[in-house]
Amino acid sequence: MPELVFFSGTMDCGKSTLALQIEHNRSARGLAGMILTRNDRAGEGKLSSRLGLVTDAVEIEDGMDLYTHIVDHLSQGGRADYVIADEAQFLAPGQIDQLARVVDDLEIDVYAFGITTDFRTKLFPGSQRLIELADRVEVLQVEALCWCGARATHNARTVGGVMVVEGAQVVIGDVTRSADEIGYEVLCRRHHRRRMTAASARAAALSPDVLPVTAD
Ligand SMILES: [Zn+2]
Repeated sequence: MPELVFFSGTMDCGKSTLALQIEHNRSARGLAGMILTRNDRAGEGKLSSRLGLVTDAVEIEDGMDLYTHIVDHLSQGGRADYVIADEAQFLAPGQIDQLARVVDDLEIDVYAFGITTDFRTKLFPGSQRLIELADRVEVLQVEALCWCGARATHNARTVGGVMVVEGAQVVIGDVTRSADEIGYEVLCRRHHRRRMTAASARAAALSPDVLPVTAD
């Protein structure tokens, strides 16, 4: 039976690396996949991993009907023995429904990869819909670690080095290097709640309140 599988996790948990591994294993067996992504760090039409691997992909646009896209591809003689959808948290809920239809009506396996929650600890709409519809949800086993060494379960956003818990869910495009530069860091829940990133923990450890003070 074909399946819709959601591989979920935090940032840095190796989702895209696993997506590329699945792609490699299936193409080595002579299968041809349709690779979809959205807003990959390597740019439009790319699926890349932090380990430096990269492959071409179809960039998913706003309002793009994924079911129709695959049907058109097949009717023009293309192959799609399976579908990989990376950065699936950025898809609209309706596009996740289209992927479920690909599984049910076209009998094609769909492997979706995404971050479950955003920097505010809220579910991304695409991830929420995947949890609702997937045949299976797999939590990735490569654990990202918080600076304290605990398992990192939450994504933090920093603006100019300071952790924030409000703002737009998705910020497109890299802000130029400035004081307002947006960064991301994975943390355990405890340090996410305390808004303590690696940098702020280091700063706290170096503050005069903590250091032994010598009189002379
Ligand atoms: Zn921690």
